[in-house]
Amino acid sequence: MKNIWNPWHGCKKKSEGCENCYMYYLDRQRDRDGGDIYKVKGDFDLPMKRDRDGFYKIRSGSRIVVCATSDFFLEEADEWRGEAWEMMRQRNDVEFVLFTKRPERIRRCLPDGWRTGWENITISVTCENQRRTDERMPILIDAPVVHKEVMCTPLLSEIQMGKYLDSGEIEHVSSGGENYEGARPTRYEWHLSLYRQCSERGIPFEFFDTGAKFIKDGRMYSIPYSLRREQALKSGLVYPPIMKSKK
Ligand code: SF4
Repeated sequence: MKNIWNPWHGCKKKSEGCENCYMYYLDRQRDRDGGDIYKVKGDFDLPMKRDRDGFYKIRSGSRIVVCATSDFFLEEADEWRGEAWEMMRQRNDVEFVLFTKRPERIRRCLPDGWRTGWENITISVTCENQRRTDERMPILIDAPVVHKEVMCTPLLSEIQMGKYLDSGEIEHVSSGGENYEGARPTRYEWHLSLYRQCSERGIPFEFFDTGAKFIKDGRMYSIPYSLRREQALKSGLVYPPIMKSKK
């Protein structure tokens, strides 16, 4: 069972990080247009689906990424979001992680009965540069959401987010480079800086993907797709550090 639920597919580009959106790229490979937004018929009700033994296909305790090929708060999805919320309310035994570059729409899109937020919902806001960090993190910090995370992908510049991290509201930060056609380079020092800002404050951080073009010590490396995660993890920019198992 994959850990992704795509109730709808397709999106509208929103900011600098969207320029080479991987979903648009993959759709082009299938002669589709990533700007066509539709409800995914077979998967829309995935959280409620059961296997032939009567168990939910999404097992209790799973962490599920929602809208990996869209944005949960996309305006074009307003008519479908209510049903999606209802399924997440019923499956309060599953953690749903909602990614968005549209935190300004969070409040108006919350369901009835939300109050201060549901324990099983995490909202992760993407911040690709300083401008979008200054725009989006204050909105996320202020939002009535129990679990808040920040994803800096593709990281396009150094970001200073210490004053936002000091709010105590952000539970996790991650970063990565850019993949697929037209990928822009990302620099090791930008990820190192985020690692330091988070680790100094005791906030979990993970640099999880070098992207296709990775600059370190002034040299640019083209990293094969299959090695990008491994290379990122080798850099050791993970907090708390991963403990090596004793043999
Ligand atoms: S918000 Fe995400 S899915 Fe939508 S265009 Fe931008 S990168 Fe692609």
